[in-house]
Amino acid sequence: MSFRATVLTLYPEMFPGPLDVSLAGRARVAGTWSLETVQIRDFAADKHRSVDDTPAGGGAGMVMRADVLARAIDHASPEDDPRPRLLMSPRGKPLTQRLVRELAAGPGAVIVCGRFEGVDQRVIEARALQEVSVGDYILSGGEPAAIVLLDAVVRLLPGVMGNESSGAEESFESGLLEHPQYTRPQVFEGREIPEVLVSGNHKKIVEWRLAEAEKLTKERRPDLWRAYEEARGKK
Ligand code: SAH
Repeated sequence: MSFRATVLTLYPEMFPGPLDVSLAGRARVAGTWSLETVQIRDFAADKHRSVDDTPAGGGAGMVMRADVLARAIDHASPEDDPRPRLLMSPRGKPLTQRLVRELAAGPGAVIVCGRFEGVDQRVIEARALQEVSVGDYILSGGEPAAIVLLDAVVRLLPGVMGNESSGAEESFESGLLEHPQYTRPQVFEGREIPEVLVSGNHKKIVEWRLAEAEKLTKERRPDLWRAYEEARGKK
């Protein structure tokens, strides 16, 4: 069974975009996942085909209408659709590798991309949209965020990554940032590859990598480090 993504957007021409090259592109051609876009504007009812209106209570910008979006969602994802319905939103729960894994293990996702100042709160509630954020900054629309989410999910689908084990060792999978990586040449502008990595001593290499990962995480991400230490304490 392949992973089925449906993206609701005012800019379907942004898809598949970067998702059509490299791993994700090949996996789509191979049928590991599929991508469908739905033009939200097709569900507007008035002759101007408007999808947004001024905010209740006043203020700058425009808000996406609940009724138009609800019709688009009902068309794309009938009530018995097993897929989660997501709304890309800076107020959402942060997109983490854990959430990415959960999504990749499921049947797919219906992803709503906001524009303007966002969407009417009532459609979020009425259609049980789960808000997901890609970080603490504001994009002009949900489309790049949807592409980020799908890129992260698709690479975890069975058979997509050439070397299955490379997934397990990456940043965040262990709760740590990844250790530094090196490859040939042996000497680059006078800098050598750390000796332990060319020693052939597998046990030493594993220890070195863990120590480096811990050092980096401690320095750069005190938040991850605290969580890692807590999890270790519980074991
Ligand atoms: N006025 C809103 C921002 C709207 S940005 C606020 O202050 O919260 C327009 C749209 O871009 C949003 O509806 C959302 O779909 C998308 N978007 C912007 N930043 C995002 C982020 N960090 N993560 C996910 N989606 C985002």
